[in-house]
Amino acid sequence: MILLNENYLKLPGSYLFSTIAKKVAAYQQEHPNEDIIRLGIGDVSRPLVPAVVEALHKASDEMGRAETFRGYGPEQGYAFLREAILKHDYLDRNIALEADEIFVSDGAKSDVANFQELFDVSCKVALQDPVYPVYLDTNVMAGRTGNFENGRFGGIVYLPCTEENGFIPDLPRERVDLVYLCSPNNPTGAAMTRSELKKWVDWAAQHNSVILYDSAYEAFITQPDVPHSIYEIPGAQKVAVEFRSFSKTAGFTGTRCAYTVVPKALQVYDRAGKPHALNALWLRRQTTKFNGVPYIVQRAAQAVFTPMGQAQIRSVIEVYQKNAQVILQALQAAGLQAFGGVNAPYIWLKTPNGIDSWTFFDRLLSKARVVGTPGVGFGACGEGYFRLTAFNTPELTQAAASRIAHLTF
Ligand code: PLP
Repeated sequence: MILLNENYLKLPGSYLFSTIAKKVAAYQQEHPNEDIIRLGIGDVSRPLVPAVVEALHKASDEMGRAETFRGYGPEQGYAFLREAILKHDYLDRNIALEADEIFVSDGAKSDVANFQELFDVSCKVALQDPVYPVYLDTNVMAGRTGNFENGRFGGIVYLPCTEENGFIPDLPRERVDLVYLCSPNNPTGAAMTRSELKKWVDWAAQHNSVILYDSAYEAFITQPDVPHSIYEIPGAQKVAVEFRSFSKTAGFTGTRCAYTVVPKALQVYDRAGKPHALNALWLRRQTTKFNGVPYIVQRAAQAVFTPMGQAQIRSVIEVYQKNAQVILQALQAAGLQAFGGVNAPYIWLKTPNGIDSWTFFDRLLSKARVVGTPGVGFGACGEGYFRLTAFNTPELTQAAASRIAHLTF
């Protein structure tokens, strides 16, 4: 008899997107002539920009010639990409890091999922609620939680993000070892200001805690008081790991490239109290379990940092930012209260008259033929909220907005 990792059995089925798909399919079957617009997806709709495509072609040609062919590359990424990231995202913002503190990977999802391996199973974890589900589920798999009861896992410290706190979590009242912060946030669209983030960095320094900072939506920040990196906050290099991705920044959701910053100043301790650099541990982990991102993809990611690449990705991001404004205006016209959409591609609306998230889903589908995501799918505090995304095409976003603007719920 082979015993399984029973922690996996603690996970409730991930019904959210399959339930949505089933409901949409059933509706479509009953109303075959109606066109449904999807504002539920967290995937981009614009293609890769020309600078990226050109780099992909060029690198593919190199791979086809004996003189320029590449086999296995460095697990932590080629120097050309790490240097480009370092210069553009850190040194140019007056953040002093080094290239060997940057680890290129195939996605922020895998990195935020895997990083918890470096910590003891007894570490206490805090999470925002509502939350991107990967942080929680991977800690459940690792055995860092109790069972799932009444919508919550035992052993996890949930940090409610509500209208009252502007969807920015309050500091935990109890001892926590690891905290996942996502800013700009999926699903609420809220982004932490410099002073809000400073509170967290100071708290982590004071309590010897580690912040796992997911900044996958950094490219959508518009407000000057919202930092682009946690390392803009003094002292953060001693307490924080930062996760970034090319997925939403440059349309790489299907191309796969991301990176994680693990400063050498960030230390954790063994049972004897001896300090160890997380940077060296993550290098050990990656070189053992990961064989790097394809050369052609890293060349494509490098092209994002050229002046041409930057201009092109900015114009794509602006398309999504305009979509967000179009959605926000439509919600306002329909008398709905909405949040986010300013520093993030997500709009978090409050369901009217206290109806629950799934009832709102059904009404939006039947009245406007628009699909979104029920907030409760992201955590208990998401009940009574609903997520719309700005990632669809401008045409379909406008069409959905026109339908929504005239609704009464
Ligand atoms: N982090 C957050 C908050 C996300 O919303 C997503 C994707 O939706 C990711 C990470 C995953 O990014 P990647 O495509 O780089 O794996």
